Amino acid sequence: MNHAVLPGATIGVLGSGQLGRMFAISARRMGYRVHTLSPEDDTPTGQIADLEINAPYEDLDAVRELARGVDVITFEFENVPSSAAAAAAELVPVRPAGAILEVAQNRLREKTFLSSNGFPVTRFSRVTSSAALQSELESFDSAAILKTAAWGYDGKGQVSIARGAGAGEAWSRLAADEAILEQLVVFEREVSVVVARSVAGEIRCFEVTANHHTNKILDYSIAPAPMSSHVRSSAIEIARGIAEKLGLEGVLCVEMFVTANGEVLVNELAPRPHNSGHWTFDASITSQFEQQVRAVCGLPLGATRQLRPAAMANLLGDLWEHGVPDFEAACRFPEVKLHLYGKAVPRPGRKMGHLTAMADTAEEALRLALAAREALTGK
Ligand code: AMP
Repeated sequence: MNHAVLPGATIGVLGSGQLGRMFAISARRMGYRVHTLSPEDDTPTGQIADLEINAPYEDLDAVRELARGVDVITFEFENVPSSAAAAAAELVPVRPAGAILEVAQNRLREKTFLSSNGFPVTRFSRVTSSAALQSELESFDSAAILKTAAWGYDGKGQVSIARGAGAGEAWSRLAADEAILEQLVVFEREVSVVVARSVAGEIRCFEVTANHHTNKILDYSIAPAPMSSHVRSSAIEIARGIAEKLGLEGVLCVEMFVTANGEVLVNELAPRPHNSGHWTFDASITSQFEQQVRAVCGLPLGATRQLRPAAMANLLGDLWEHGVPDFEAACRFPEVKLHLYGKAVPRPGRKMGHLTAMADTAEEALRLALAAREALTGK
């Protein structure tokens, strides 16, 4: 029987970045307490949480200390060692389960899970040496991307390989023992669907979001994604199917490629809220963060209906290059919401905050979000 973790209880979060921060804001709004554990202190999540435990994820005594003080544990960062999830699970429910983290932590396990369950993915193979890479490249006979099997995000641990290029340079640049070689997808658009599944098995998806990356980091997103209703239904069906197959209890983002002929291929899974779903914090009946609270606490899910077309633009540390951005200028856009994550040190590529704009169309929302972002640096 499902015993819901009710408001007043305490939720533990492994990880302490902006995803945990927005989760903690939603949880506190609903009357929960939040404890967080990560190797850093004064973190985006810790600034909102009731308690911040400062310890490495490998410190299983610290993980057990977190678990003893809370009623349920979730993640905002999937690269937590499985030993930490297992240690916590001996004491309290861990949602999503550690087994789901393990699938998402490793690109080979992820793509193998997807393809063996009939979800569409680009052609891929496992390679563990330069010679094996060379022979795979010959059989692919197309441009490809070589990725480390483990610990990848935001395009880290990836090397592009042109059609006909040799294996040697790519293999030494990647510097990994185990890698996945993927056929390059010539896509028209990158999209994502954030899906939630409750402990009782209810599934709800947020609107399909179109994502634009620069230097392999998400730059901006718009929702609803401009696409045919057929492609939209395929993307949502795939996300629902994956949540069901994984037996997810929580929130999961499914990142996908859409090709010119309307084929949808899954690129990556993130078993937590996602940057591409940040617009839901302002423009949806329920946000992805509230949905995570509901899902991991064993409550019914909230409605995912989008209230207005929206766009989200990331604020990376690069915007701080010539000093603190002009936040007042961005606030002159009344339809734009400013989110900052409380990070003290802006580094190039570091996600410091985002802007969400709402308008009558997603295109207009994007125009507003980008104009407000330019105003930050006086452009
Ligand atoms: P990832 O770290 O796997 O999410 O990849 C980061 C970005 O690299 C994606 O958002 C795509 O823009 C690009 N990318 C990754 N894999 C492929 C692929 N097989 N074909 C084309 N582009 C890719």
